[in-house]
Amino acid sequence: MEESYPSIKKSRKGKTSCCELSRENEAFMVADWAMKFLPRKYREGQTDWFGKRGINWHITVTMLKTEGSVKFLTHVHIFEQPTPQDAATTGAILVDVVQNIPSVKKAIDSQQRGQYRVKVISPVINADDEKVSLRSIPLISMLHNFKFTDNGLQLWRAYDIGQGKFISWNSIIDKKIPVIQLLFIMIGLILSLLQWGSEVVDREDGDDDEEDDNDDEDTQNDNYDKDTTTPEPVPKKRRTIAKVFTCPEEGCTRSFKHSSSLDKHILLGNCNIKEEKLSLADRTKVLYVQKLEDGNLGVSFTKQPANNNNTATDKLNKGWALMVNKPKTIFTQDQKAYLYEQFMIGKTTGRKEDPSKVAEEMRYALKNGENRFSRSQYLTSQQVASYFSRLVQKEKKIDETDLIAATADSKCSVLKRNVLKECSL
Ligand SMILES: [Zn+2]
Repeated sequence: MEESYPSIKKSRKGKTSCCELSRENEAFMVADWAMKFLPRKYREGQTDWFGKRGINWHITVTMLKTEGSVKFLTHVHIFEQPTPQDAATTGAILVDVVQNIPSVKKAIDSQQRGQYRVKVISPVINADDEKVSLRSIPLISMLHNFKFTDNGLQLWRAYDIGQGKFISWNSIIDKKIPVIQLLFIMIGLILSLLQWGSEVVDREDGDDDEEDDNDDEDTQNDNYDKDTTTPEPVPKKRRTIAKVFTCPEEGCTRSFKHSSSLDKHILLGNCNIKEEKLSLADRTKVLYVQKLEDGNLGVSFTKQPANNNNTATDKLNKGWALMVNKPKTIFTQDQKAYLYEQFMIGKTTGRKEDPSKVAEEMRYALKNGENRFSRSQYLTSQQVASYFSRLVQKEKKIDETDLIAATADSKCSVLKRNVLKECSL
């Protein structure tokens, strides 16, 4: 039965089991580099936009179990200057967060609410530092579950499927992995803005803060489910504010009063998925299939002997839902030529072609009165987008066409201004 689970359900199960912190002072961390933060002026000219550098920032959310409930704290590391998002930098950030954990606990305990700890840092990169010799793990992009043990790394392609593969530390790392130094420029605590929103709701009801805290904790308890699902009259103590924040997960029946509680719920992933009620039509279909399988229809029904005809549906090979490596597709000359033409239209007019539009139009492109591409040659918008980005990389050295586009654009805006001027007179 296990192998028939869709992989997504499996991985969610994996996450939930990770979040189930059993011991006191055990922490679960989610860490990633956020999308580069692009600083923006209120009004931006062309020169402001081009060649702008994004600000690197790294977010770590720590879930910590204290006194039976899970608390959250978010660390934000903002880099002053452009830095490579490599192992040395990421390692340094994680070390910093972990070193912070005792104080993190204190911070959470004193505040009882989510906070953001923001650090602005400048990395100290030692260029003379020896390059660490790390050997890459084969097919690393296919692996999604890792367990760090004292002797090595246990790898799985999907959570809880099979035994996994073991790689000893010695076979991947030669020396100690260097960690860069972080120079802290500014450290600050920012209270969650979301708190403000929930306080407004509280005031309407005239409840005090203490009770509100209890309420927040309740939402993490599984007993709470009963309250949200059963139509029984709510106890007197429970307030009757509408739970306006519903979980966006499909099938999940939980809803919350505060958006911060919803955030916690999504992070923990302890969704309460209720089975969908079947309509009468669906129920009859299911019943009919059951009856067919039993051979119990009341009419003469010759049951097919189990032969090799239906073995294909009987059993799926283990791991069928795992991600597969897509074979590389090589574009034909004509495909490349077509994409280049479309790309150049965007280049010269300054109006960029939308990859999804290009992919769509490709189906209707004609050559000598006939369809230019066969069905097998149609490309997806992702393929078009990635080819365009490759062309951009190639074209970066030749900026003349960009200049043409820029002048065309400025001419256009001058014309527009003149027309508007005349209209207003
Ligand atoms: Zn949910």
